[in-house]
Amino acid sequence: MVRCRKCPRLVAYLKQVSNHKPKRYRDWDYWSKPLPSFGDPDARVLIVGLAPAAQGGNRTGRMFTGDRSGEWLFNALYQFGFANQPNSLRRDDDFKLNDGYITATIRCAPPKNKPLPEEIENCRPYFLKELDLLKNIKVIVPLGQIAFAQTLKSLRLKGLDIPPLPFGHGKIFSLRTLYGRFMNRPYELRTITLITTYHPSQQNTQTGKLTRPMFHQIFKLARNKLKVRS
Ligand code: SF4
Repeated sequence: MVRCRKCPRLVAYLKQVSNHKPKRYRDWDYWSKPLPSFGDPDARVLIVGLAPAAQGGNRTGRMFTGDRSGEWLFNALYQFGFANQPNSLRRDDDFKLNDGYITATIRCAPPKNKPLPEEIENCRPYFLKELDLLKNIKVIVPLGQIAFAQTLKSLRLKGLDIPPLPFGHGKIFSLRTLYGRFMNRPYELRTITLITTYHPSQQNTQTGKLTRPMFHQIFKLARNKLKVRS
């Protein structure tokens, strides 16, 4: 996946970003390639971001590492036992997810954080493959409205019969699914819980649309859902 070049606009943008580093990062050797997902392969919680940040994950080489959204996300994951450290600034800082896995709607940073519809489609097969490989997922947390909509679309493509669902913060949806159609397993009726949240972007966190307690509540809900099921 790191060699993927399906989106020429994004390939060109990543080159441009690494050729015009801000002063504070001028000593960094930017990753500037598609970003792999990461986490616990046996995870029960799947977090779906939108796209890497040009000066964040695209610089450090790991999703959310080194950017402000990541600071919020990793802190919340740490508070509820899904991570071993409250933040991650570099790829080699021993940060690890426990029972959690982080992926994204697209894997190359887009200009102004806005991917084009065709870029989202180009990248979708990677997410669909992950849904096959991550066999223990019980809770999905898409970050923000676009990740929510695209997660629903991918789940429908995997055969889940999901009605139109409204986006908002802190909504919980139970999706009944026949595993086997969904994740290469013998047929088995399971429930996947979808928990919605506003994206921890600076636009949301600096305006107070999303507060720390609101965001932490999402991962508290995820933790409680796992307790109910275990
Ligand atoms: S966004 Fe996805 S599909 Fe497009 S070039 Fe990057 S990895 Fe490939």
